[in-house]
Amino acid sequence: MAQRLLKRPIGLLFVPVRTQYLSRSFSTVLDTPVDPSTQQITPPTSQRSVFQDALQAAGPRTNWTREEIAEVYNTSLIELTYAASAVHRRFHDPAAIQMCTLMNIKTGGCSEDCSYCAQSSRYDTGLKATKMSSVESVLEAARVAKENGSSRFCMGAAWRDMRGRKTNLKNVKAMVTGVRDLGMEACVTLGMIDAEQAKELKAAGLTAYNHNVDTSREHYPSVITTRTYDERLKTIQNVQEAGIHVCTGGILGLGEKARDHVGLIHTVSTLPAHPESFPVNALVPIKGTPLGETQTISFDAILRTIATARMVMPKTIIRLAAGRHTMAEEKQIMCFQVGANAVFTGEKMLTTACNGWEEDKAMFERWGLRPMAMKETIGEKDKITEDIVAATPEEVTQATSATA
Ligand code: SF4
Repeated sequence: MAQRLLKRPIGLLFVPVRTQYLSRSFSTVLDTPVDPSTQQITPPTSQRSVFQDALQAAGPRTNWTREEIAEVYNTSLIELTYAASAVHRRFHDPAAIQMCTLMNIKTGGCSEDCSYCAQSSRYDTGLKATKMSSVESVLEAARVAKENGSSRFCMGAAWRDMRGRKTNLKNVKAMVTGVRDLGMEACVTLGMIDAEQAKELKAAGLTAYNHNVDTSREHYPSVITTRTYDERLKTIQNVQEAGIHVCTGGILGLGEKARDHVGLIHTVSTLPAHPESFPVNALVPIKGTPLGETQTISFDAILRTIATARMVMPKTIIRLAAGRHTMAEEKQIMCFQVGANAVFTGEKMLTTACNGWEEDKAMFERWGLRPMAMKETIGEKDKITEDIVAATPEEVTQATSATA
């Protein structure tokens, strides 16, 4: 739009002066002509905000403070989702979604009191405890998963820990080696493990070990009382020290507050190295458990958590886990847009329902998504061990062009 000439009084004279249209912060144009000489122009600051730093990141950093993560988390959702999407595209191919299948290799009868879990022996959920599955049946299930596009096969057992489970561990190791021989990533979740057991699993070829911290340190005691947050972190430490990738995340909808989502992300993003995988579960309330009647978490909180995790842990695979089957397709796509890049797919996910392979293939087709190839997964590439990276503009350019 052309600039207009206005008459401005100087003393008794009226002289024509040129005025400018000023941009608003949200990029529309002021339609009232303003004299620039009367404007207070704020000088550009050399200090970038935490949000801007996260947006410009060229790599992972592990020195996040809670306040910094809260600042990212509390950014308006429209800005946060856009920024998370930009970060996601810098570090990942947004079309590639890792397909994983999770099999329960030993169901129920667990001595722990996790108040969301159908497999705890403390609650009457109608679930029948089973013995451990045979190695052959597990490998057959892995073969089927691979044929359907899954590149990662996860195996879960409802145990508190692996103490005194020598035969069980031997069988799990055979399963791990068998899954790896199929050319898939292998992940297990067996409860707490010590340093020696972690080394044995590493020697068997284990790609990743799942051990969720579930929620923030503060909210944790109102969800689980039979093992501490620090015990969980000790297992994660054993896994990391054995050179196995860590898969650790949380469950949203356990009666927590927004600050607990911040606390959860803070815990995992300040580990010595970011987890390779961050699963985001939405509670599926199970009748008979203490959280069986809990109201489901709102979608904006799920989206905000995923977007924040993406900005804080740019390289990590973010895994849309339990509860995905309750989300409409459009909501799942929004999660992929802001950084989620893995799903559990198959017949079942532990004891809860799961989106089936055919359903996921059709969704991928509609939206131009594709299963992540093995060579693209972090489990097969590098470990996330880089420490703090304060990106310079040159590094940002390099990182952006490298992934373009
Ligand atoms: S979540 Fe795991 S440890 Fe907790 S009760 Fe369920 S099976 Fe046991």
